[in-house]
Amino acid sequence: MSEGKEKVELLLQHSGLRRTQQRIDILSLLMERQKPMTITDLWKQLHKRIDRVTVYRTLNKLISGEVVCRLLDQHGTTFYKLADEPPLYRAHLFCSACKRSIPIDSFVISSNYLEALDQYEIHEVDISIQGKCESCKKRSAHASGQN
Ligand SMILES: [Zn+2]
Repeated sequence: MSEGKEKVELLLQHSGLRRTQQRIDILSLLMERQKPMTITDLWKQLHKRIDRVTVYRTLNKLISGEVVCRLLDQHGTTFYKLADEPPLYRAHLFCSACKRSIPIDSFVISSNYLEALDQYEIHEVDISIQGKCESCKKRSAHASGQN
């Protein structure tokens, strides 16, 4: 519990962002859930203590500090998750059924490498592979009867 809180404080410190209660609350939630969440999910989990616009603005701030990143599912719904350690971008398998995202460790690009390619300043990298995870695949095979 307090270990998570410490990690949240560290993330904020490293991002150079100011420490505010909203930022701490949102980061703590994303850390607890360990899966991508929509603005509505977050807003509900925060018991609507802060309004949706504030949730949205806070997320954008956290993205600019590279502590949170955005992903889209195939319907164009935006999900938010904790970013990987800033210098590495990782591809994710994103299960469209249960919304879990699984990092692929063998597919990692460092931001130094990307930026060296063309003196390019990277703002966001989103490599997400959409599909169905093992348990959702089993469940849907079950639901459609034996094959
Ligand atoms: Zn799944």
